[in-house]
Amino acid sequence: MTMQRRVILEELAKVTSHPTADQLYQLVRRQLPRISLGTVYRNLDILSQTGMILRLDGEGQRRFDANANNHYHICCTLCGRTDDLQMKLIPKLEQNAAKAGGYQVTGHQLEFQGICPACLAKADSQAE
Ligand SMILES: [Zn+2]
Ligand SMILES: [Zn+2]
Repeated sequence: MTMQRRVILEELAKVTSHPTADQLYQLVRRQLPRISLGTVYRNLDILSQTGMILRLDGEGQRRFDANANNHYHICCTLCGRTDDLQMKLIPKLEQNAAKAGGYQVTGHQLEFQGICPACLAKADSQAE
């Protein structure tokens, strides 16, 4: 693993905010001022292809997660904030999908959309 890739992975592992490539680039640049955005993109592609990180292709910009174990996410449609959902994986979801589609299912991602508590509070205070 290159030094650049290690720093990208370390910076991603420090946050739970599911950053976009641009946001991660800003973090990584503090350690490696001369790194390019293209290098960050390329390394994120490699890391997600090898299963070391999760790539979230939900609504809006693509986001990344150092927690590579499957878990569900919820994304705010107003501000784009993305959180982990502390809930169990739905049992037999992949078996059912395999049965329905005739595919050999190798994985799945589930992302819910909604309005986050901060945006809800903002909407409440504006309504008053
Ligand atoms: Zn929000
Ligand atoms: Zn996550």
